Amino acid sequence: MALLPEVPAERRLLDTRDVSQRRVPLYLYVLHTTGAGIVQRALDAGYRPDDAEGIAHFAARFYAGDNEVSTHLLVDWAGHVWQICRLDVDAWHSGYSPAMKALYYSPRRTEWMEWSQPLNGSLVHQSANDYTFWRAAHPGLSNPTEMLSAEVRARHGSPNMGSISIDLVATIGGRPWSAAQLGGLRQALTACGRLTGVLPTLNNVRRHSDLDPVYRGSVLRSRQIVEFPWDPKDLDLGAVLS
Ligand SMILES: [Zn+2]
Repeated sequence: MALLPEVPAERRLLDTRDVSQRRVPLYLYVLHTTGAGIVQRALDAGYRPDDAEGIAHFAARFYAGDNEVSTHLLVDWAGHVWQICRLDVDAWHSGYSPAMKALYYSPRRTEWMEWSQPLNGSLVHQSANDYTFWRAAHPGLSNPTEMLSAEVRARHGSPNMGSISIDLVATIGGRPWSAAQLGGLRQALTACGRLTGVLPTLNNVRRHSDLDPVYRGSVLRSRQIVEFPWDPKDLDLGAVLS
């Protein structure tokens, strides 16, 4: 139940830290970008830009290492899937900070829409605009926690609880996701569904930007906060799940 049989041993870099066992059953898949920073660090360490395997190995080692972040699966540019956490534990990929938790669980359900924490910025009482991207993607919803299970909401939990996290290795220069990488993502989701029995659908596969739009939904450009869901950017879930 815990390891994907499709992932060969050389692409398993298991995080051996004392991670939490699942406290609620698996019900959610969360998709991420690794962010360009980790790719840049790999390049700075001497990996060539065409070395998809080497850069993915570098990123996998980072997630398995001694820091505050982790992920269950990683999909590299060639579409190969890497496993870092067992699927039966909660990885640290979408936690809410105390401030963010207070916002998302505020009795005023739309209060979060007045706030932004842009990439490379801090939490400010200012919205990029009206979270148009989020409203358009989630008609009928008013708050990201409505995408969490009732059990997680009752505990004021984050998307870390009861989820599997899949990270796409960021492309260089913000290039679009390749067909190979999207194919790898599709394979990863299918393999998870087969192993866990939780089949991926448009109702349980979410982008990190959907679940934490305040933190993953804007950037700073010329000191202005600009609405820009970037985690992961331009990922069409309908196409991925078709
Ligand atoms: Zn993320």
